[in-house]
Amino acid sequence: MIMNIGIVGLGLIGGSIGLDLRSRGFYVFGVSSREETCHRAVDRGVVDAASVNLSDMAAADVVFICTPLGSIESIARQLVRHLSPAAIVTDVGSVKTPIVQAVSSLWPNFVGGHPMAGTAESGIEAAVRDLFVGRPYVVTPTAETPAVAVEGVEEIARLLGSDVYRCGPEEHDRAVAGISHLPIVASATLVAACAKEGDRDLVNLAQHLASSGFRDTSRVGGGNPELGVMVARYNRVELLRSLSIYRDCLDEFISCIESEDWQALEQKLKLTQAARKNYKLSN
Ligand code: NAP
Repeated sequence: MIMNIGIVGLGLIGGSIGLDLRSRGFYVFGVSSREETCHRAVDRGVVDAASVNLSDMAAADVVFICTPLGSIESIARQLVRHLSPAAIVTDVGSVKTPIVQAVSSLWPNFVGGHPMAGTAESGIEAAVRDLFVGRPYVVTPTAETPAVAVEGVEEIARLLGSDVYRCGPEEHDRAVAGISHLPIVASATLVAACAKEGDRDLVNLAQHLASSGFRDTSRVGGGNPELGVMVARYNRVELLRSLSIYRDCLDEFISCIESEDWQALEQKLKLTQAARKNYKLSN
């Protein structure tokens, strides 16, 4: 039975994992970059203890690296010299191929992971209980990843209440480009397009009239900018592929409206209405 959990990066995702695993009886030790975050994490009951020193992870059976994508590899490089040989290391980064390639070569017991849950907030104050309940948790082993490490991470993901999926890192990145990373850009450009309206009175009126449709479609574009930049940098090729398909779709819709081909537009909207039902969407 895994008892000691280490979490590096006490923000939205790391803090939420800490809250849930403590409540399930694990001893949770946290490392974060700022002392004040460590104090706050202990005060909030996110972790049992915390420090800014990776060497304090020596007793961990499983370590979750929950820092921004750009720092995961360098943290893993520093972390592994402190761990016992059987320790399992996993991460929660939103892109998997570059992370899995880099960290697997540093630590054989590394398993890439991605809990598909979040909010528009970030940092230790954003950590909440039950963030992962009923959400997908993707685990992305390679052919060389030890089964015991994969099963250990999957067991913890199930304890968080998640639905566990297993696939290769490349498959993960292509799939999330369409359903997670493209929506960030589509949603951000939607807000940018509305903000570009030149008439200030009209912008003011639109801001007051904005309701549920705008709320739902603008949410992910209004989230943490750092995360948006990181997914674009790390999943650039797959995101560009999805954006190119998206641009083609947009052109098709524009063409229907320009030519006043309402029948063609209705046909397209009937197809999208039916296609949306195929996605497993929870609140
Ligand atoms: P976050 O709220 O900003 O939390 C990350 C925390 O890591 C920061 O609060 C920071 O705490 C700490 N940190 C930063 N650099 C560090 C370092 N070098 N060493 C130790 N701690 C460090 O971000 P998040 O939304 O939880 O995202 C974390 C990871 O989860 C990312 O890799 C992201 O791709 C992934 N993810 C995010 C979401 C989402 O919707 N947000 C969903 C799934 C996965 P300090 O206060 O100590 O600086």
